[in-house]
Parts: sequence; C-alpha cells; structure tokens
Amino acid sequence: MEMSASAHATSPTAYVIGAGVIGLTTAVRLLELGLDVTVLTREPIEETTSHVAGAYWHPFAVAPKDRVLPWARITYRVSQALADHTPAAGVAFRTLYKYYSKDEVHTWWMHAAPSYEQLPASTLPATAAAGYQLTVPVMDSRYFLPYLVAQIRALGGRVEQRTLQHLEELHGTADLLVNCSGLGAATLNGDATVQPIRGQVLRVKAPEAMERAVVSFDKGWRKTYIVPRTDDCILGGTADAADADTTARPADVEAFVERCIQLRPALQDAEWLEHRVGLRPGRPEIRLETEHVAGQAIIHNYGHGGAGYTVCWGCAASVAAAALRLVGAP
Ligand SMILES: Cc1cc2nc3c(=O)[nH]c(=O)nc-3n(C[C@H](O)[C@H](O)[C@H](O)COP(=O)(O)OP(=O)(O)OC[C@H]3O[C@@H](n4cnc5c(N)ncnc54)[C@H](O)[C@@H]3O)c2cc1C
Repeated sequence: MEMSASAHATSPTAYVIGAGVIGLTTAVRLLELGLDVTVLTREPIEETTSHVAGAYWHPFAVAPKDRVLPWARITYRVSQALADHTPAAGVAFRTLYKYYSKDEVHTWWMHAAPSYEQLPASTLPATAAAGYQLTVPVMDSRYFLPYLVAQIRALGGRVEQRTLQHLEELHGTADLLVNCSGLGAATLNGDATVQPIRGQVLRVKAPEAMERAVVSFDKGWRKTYIVPRTDDCILGGTADAADADTTARPADVEAFVERCIQLRPALQDAEWLEHRVGLRPGRPEIRLETEHVAGQAIIHNYGHGGAGYTVCWGCAASVAAAALRLVGAP
C-alpha cells in the first residue's frame, strides 16, 4: 500500500542507515508504525554481509545473552509466521543437529526455541562429545532480503544507494536516525569496538546430501556447518577475528569441505557453485540504544556478530518501541 503524499507530510521522518538484514527488518517495523522511512545503503544489497550468510537461527559471536535470548525468541516466532504464510520470504524450518566437542557445550540459546532434545551418545559423530536436536528457521538471503525491500516499498518507504562519510551528515535532516550500518559503524560514528570477523562459505548443489536438515559442529572457531536452503546448500565455514580480507582462500575451503564431508559423506559429489566471503560485524555486545547528539535523536542497532539473522526481528521490535517513545505515534 503506497502512503499518500499528505501522510508523508505529517509523518515523523526517519533515515535507516544500512540495508542488511538489520536495517531492512528495522525499516519494516518503523514503517508499520507510520513513520516516513528512507533506507540508505553504500552497496547493492547482494554485496552486503547479510547476503553472504547461511543463514540459520543460531547465535554465534554475539552478546549479551540476556538480551539476545528474547530477541532470538521474537525472531523465531516471526519466522514461523513467515514460513507458514509467506513463501516469497524464503524462510523454512529445518531440523538442526548441533554437535559440540568436549568443554564447548552451551545450550543457553536453545531456551529461545520452543523445545530441544539431547541426542543419544550412540548417534554422535566420533569427535563429538554432545549433540542436540531442535527445529530452527533458515532464511534464504536470496529471497529474504528482496522480500524485505518489497515490503518496505509496499509500505511507502524507499531504499536508496548512498554512501555516508559520517553520521553527522544527516543531522537535522530527519526526526530520527537509525544506525544499522553493521561494520560501517567503525567509521560512520567512530566505534573502535566494532571489528570484522571474516567468514567464508561455499555454495553447492547437492540434492542427495541435503536431507532438509542443518548440521553444525562447533570446534572452537573452526566451525563446520551444512545449511540446506531453497534449492542449494551453504557449506561453511571460517571465523577469523579482526580479518577484513574478502578474497576467497582455497585452503580454507578445502579444509571445511572435508569436515562437512565427514559429517555428511554424500557431499563428496556436491557441485561447487560459488565462493562467498563476508565480514561479520563483531562487537563485544550488540549496541541497541538511543543517543542524542546536538539535538539529533539517533537509535543505534549494530554489532550483531554472527547472529544478525537470529535476532533481527527482536532488535527491530526494540527499535520500534524506542522510536515510539521518541517521536510518538504518528
Ligand atoms: C559466512 C557468514 C555466515 C553467517 N551465518 C549466519 C547464520 O547462520 N545466522 C545468523 O544469524 N547470522 C549469520 N551471519 C551473520 C550475519 O550475516 C550478520 O550478523 C548480519 O548480516 C549483520 O547484518 P547488518 O545488517 O548489521 O550488516 P550488513 O549486512 O553488513 O549491512 C550493513 C549495511 O550498512 C550499510 N553501510 C555501512 N556503512 C555505510 C555508510 N558509510 N554509508 C551508507 N551505508 C553504509 C551497508 O551498505 C549495508 O547496507 C553470518 C555471516 C557470515 C559472514
């Protein structure tokens, strides 16, 4: 539904900086509140980190737990509704087999799912000390991000390609600025705690290996995962702290593909489609808070590490609540 010009004229205005999964979900929620929203992105959406991601519901390199848990719970519920009613969104639920090696087992995040079960020791891969089974959403970025853009446009919002040097450039141009710039926050607002965590994955076609289940094995940061999507499969992966190199490294790929094959031997015959490298926006904690700088209201929503897809709708809901307090109901 297009908003009328007069509705725009009276609605509070907001710039959302960032068109990754965080900026796009946030923009949808702000538009639903009735704000007049323009999303700005430095690069096309298919060049964002969000486009590279797997992406399954599973928090990695993200904090703090007491906020991540409710945000993940909200995202799980919204994903359920999308999977049930909106096939165009590219969200599907899969069984996740999550394995851990000794001393690594952590189940705190599973409490955000409706249920989870411990797997019998006899079913675990040889090197696993524990395993769990739960149902999780998988968001296929090739469909999910364009779906969000379409939602934004349908609600009367805009997505524009524009690079900002500093957040101050937008001061005084809108009632509200919402900073969803991910790694960009390091320069946009000078947050030195934002650091890249490089991730490399391989997109494959492997119909007989997919079995519609996500398999994931944590062994330190030498993560191994197999994420079946709509019609392809993501194999991963790597997590290199403070590494901003986006070129593919063949040795890394060979190593994680070998680990994936150990978990799912049928992947031996997978057709390799595409190497992908992305930089997770690492930060000691997600920054989701309101700030006033020289009279400009800013809501920050960045630093989601390896969990942007896991918490996106929950964070968007928190931003919407904060926006309502700042600008009131239009
Ligand atoms: C290999 C890999 C696998 C992953 N797997 C998962 C997973 O399974 N589950 C999960 O939950 N998460 C996963 N993640 C993490 C997830 O992808 C990120 O947490 C998420 O994409 C962060 O989203 P974002 O919108 O904050 O950042 P981005 O997608 O990086 O978007 C940032 C946006 O800000 C804009 N921007 C930045 N600076 C400027 C500027 N100066 N001017 C204008 N615009 C600017 C950019 O153009 C872009 O539009 C994975 C990541 C990688 C790399």
